[in-house]
Amino acid sequence: MAAGTGLAALAAPLMTPAPARAAQHLWRWCFQCSGLWFSGNGGNGYCPLGTGLFGWDHPHQSSGSGDYLLRFADEPGAGQITWRWCRFCSGLWSTGRPDNTRCPAGGLADGGHDFWGSGQYKLEALPNMTNGHGGQAQWFMCRKCAGLFFAGNGPQGVCPAGGAHEHQAGIGFEHVLRQV
Ligand SMILES: [Zn+2]
Ligand SMILES: [Zn+2]
Ligand SMILES: [Zn+2]
Repeated sequence: MAAGTGLAALAAPLMTPAPARAAQHLWRWCFQCSGLWFSGNGGNGYCPLGTGLFGWDHPHQSSGSGDYLLRFADEPGAGQITWRWCRFCSGLWSTGRPDNTRCPAGGLADGGHDFWGSGQYKLEALPNMTNGHGGQAQWFMCRKCAGLFFAGNGPQGVCPAGGAHEHQAGIGFEHVLRQV
């Protein structure tokens, strides 16, 4: 009975609704690899393309990019919730293809991205737009590395799995991102 009383007392604070969590901004498009990466941690992650003095430095770039806003998976509205940040490369990638992930920074033992420490993000996919009109289409998951990349510039970036990123065509594969 004493334990039950204690549990009842502890339950009270848990009844308080959690504060609504805002979407997260500071996501950037990298003009080198065409991927989306998170710039809010201080560093620039790891780009498939080296640009440093001796070629060993691999920062993603934010020049020319808008400030993209990602919703979390527990926010209302339809969307695909397989999206995660990778702590090795800072890129956004999908857990929907576990056999086909490739991290430019080397990643886990199998060479894939890692979602340790990441929130779970939700991306809108055409044609099921839930946040009204607007936004920027032509964002796709790469079927070689599982990273999200922008295909609207013609060239499809640089893929850590080699060559350019590639995507599948068809309903549900094209995502729309919003900017701040
Ligand atoms: Zn990059
Ligand atoms: Zn990675
Ligand atoms: Zn790729």
